[in-house]
Amino acid sequence: MLDLSTLNPPQRAAAEHTEGPLLVLAGAGSGKTRVITYRIGHLLLDKKVKAEDILAVTFTNKAAGEMKERVRELVGRGKAKGMVISTFHSLGVRILRRDIERLGYKKNFSIYTTSDQIGLIRQAMREVNADGKKFDAETLLWRISGWKNGLIPPDRAVPRYDDPDELLACDVYPRYQALLHACNAIDFDDIIMLTVRLLQDYPEVLDHWQERFRYIMVDEYQDTNASQYLFISLLARKYRNLCVVGDDDQSIYGWRGADVGNILDFERDYPGCRVVKLEQNYRSTGTILEAANQVIKNNAKRKEKRLWTDVGEGRPIDMVIAQDDEEEATLVVERLQMERYQHNLSFGDFAILYRTNSQSRAFEEQLRFEDIPYVLVGGMQFYERKEVKDALSYLKVIDNPLDEQALLRVVNFPRRGIGDGTVVKINQWSLEHECPLLEAMGRVEEIEGIPGATREKVLTFHRLITGAAGEFRRPGDLAARVKGFYDRIGLEEELYRTIEEPATARRKVENVEQIINSMAGYEERIPGATLSGFLEKVSLMDEDRFSGKDKKEHGKDAVTLMSLHSSKGLEFPFVFLVGFEEEILPHKKSVEEGMSIDEERRLCYVGITRARRHLTITRCLHRKKYGKLLERQPSRFLEEIPERLVQVHEGEVKKAATEEEQEAMAQDFFARMREKLS
Ligand code: ATP
Ligand code: MG
Repeated sequence: MLDLSTLNPPQRAAAEHTEGPLLVLAGAGSGKTRVITYRIGHLLLDKKVKAEDILAVTFTNKAAGEMKERVRELVGRGKAKGMVISTFHSLGVRILRRDIERLGYKKNFSIYTTSDQIGLIRQAMREVNADGKKFDAETLLWRISGWKNGLIPPDRAVPRYDDPDELLACDVYPRYQALLHACNAIDFDDIIMLTVRLLQDYPEVLDHWQERFRYIMVDEYQDTNASQYLFISLLARKYRNLCVVGDDDQSIYGWRGADVGNILDFERDYPGCRVVKLEQNYRSTGTILEAANQVIKNNAKRKEKRLWTDVGEGRPIDMVIAQDDEEEATLVVERLQMERYQHNLSFGDFAILYRTNSQSRAFEEQLRFEDIPYVLVGGMQFYERKEVKDALSYLKVIDNPLDEQALLRVVNFPRRGIGDGTVVKINQWSLEHECPLLEAMGRVEEIEGIPGATREKVLTFHRLITGAAGEFRRPGDLAARVKGFYDRIGLEEELYRTIEEPATARRKVENVEQIINSMAGYEERIPGATLSGFLEKVSLMDEDRFSGKDKKEHGKDAVTLMSLHSSKGLEFPFVFLVGFEEEILPHKKSVEEGMSIDEERRLCYVGITRARRHLTITRCLHRKKYGKLLERQPSRFLEEIPERLVQVHEGEVKKAATEEEQEAMAQDFFARMREKLS
């Protein structure tokens, strides 16, 4: 028998309701995920259901892994063997591996990722004679993906309005799909789309999986989109043993097509379903919970929920006001260390959550500076991101014109009509003449087989690099000059031009800005800073301290850095919610584009409710943009948190100009810390 006495009555009722549809609609930290875990345990141990009959769908692979582990702890490894706990995509792949031949693919199909997809889109564009200069592959891919998520096959895709991109996407879609097929490949959207088609068109396939998964559970149901919804409905249609859990207040993927209606309409779609509400929160202190409740209650369209806790009020929320983003990072890391010593915690007890991935840069740097291990979840290490690498590559060639890797990265970025063929010829010539690649570019006139117009372009590029190389030998004023250089080559425009998905483009532009900000910070610390010095610092950061091995070791006990989106479903004893400012949270785009800020408020709610014992919110008075300080306004959500729950702290750390000052400040810091500890 599974001991269900550790569940409260409604949780227990949900775990024990094993036949027929069940909806658990409840606020954050009320034990929804725990209910699924215990429900699986109950099915296995008490209802003697076979493990193979059980399917649980989670939002991320990480969540799936954790749930599996918990079930194994409850029932033992042997009994859990054969159950399927996975994401929608892994489940789809499992189904496709068995029967995809019916759709004309081979069983050993490949799954294409973005760069493969882009390659195919370009090829498809050539086949329909699309102007590769006028249209952008990523835009087309984005539109095609939209159709696929709406389960619209190529022959039914109709452009909704008179939009040249969409008209072309409509032509490219069938070609793209045919090319994928020819490669025996499917993309991420196909995984769901083809699975649904398989289940819809082949009753025997559907029947197989309906028989296989007699008990189905879905976590984070509020974030399913139309195709995922249909996927699950098909599987559950026969036995109707479907249990979905979710929280409409935590629906944060509307921008990706998720439809919160799926959870709100569950009662309509499954008449006679049992609905369980959970109201006790087991995660957070009373203070944290009240702040969350007060914020979310400002959303108009929601199911009213009351959450309470009996773990006591806990500490007030710390509100830290920093002068700028560098200071914000310093203050957060200082507080983090202090809390860690005071409460004898490990680094893994802390999370730093932000709205946009580009905010991570300052925190990463500060954590490295203090030698604190961290893991960056979802999102590459900052300096590994493509646009950051590209932008930095310019600085690398300027600094060292012999750096051919960097040169090859930037020779046609932003696109300037120097194609691969030309580069191959120059490269060949440079090898034959034992002359560095950049120099060969300067002597392009001597190279045969390159048309005059292209030669001109190569020479212009050569002049750009050699000119900048001369210019940057002079130290000082780096951030401003680099910004000037990026403007001159049109880096920002290129990002906006080539990445049509505006949010993606904006994010990349923000990342490039971060390089400049980082440089400005570096210059502030080191008077007379040089480009070489800056690049050296960046390279050492990358290779030395964050090699693959290191990252793993850090994984053991490390501070977690992640976006609010990826923090869904998780919990941490101590949470820092940073950048609590207008234009960040709520994000600029939701304000500018007149979108509803309800989704931003839900994100804020998700962030606050990740904290178990203590929450620190930070904001800046100024923030650097392209190395310049701009004034910042506090987030409107701050006003929604009652003042009595908050203790305000204004910046405690001064910037140190000289090494002596830095040393003095460090001494002062340790003195204060000792004082607090004693
Ligand atoms: P979210 O909405 O953030 O996904 P959730 O509703 O899924 O939250 P859980 O993660 O399942 O909530 O539970 C939150 C925390 O409360 C976990 O640490 C869980 O172990 C604990 N918890 C839940 N129910 C109980 C209970 N009855 N007794 C003790 N602890 C509980
Ligand atoms: Mg959960």
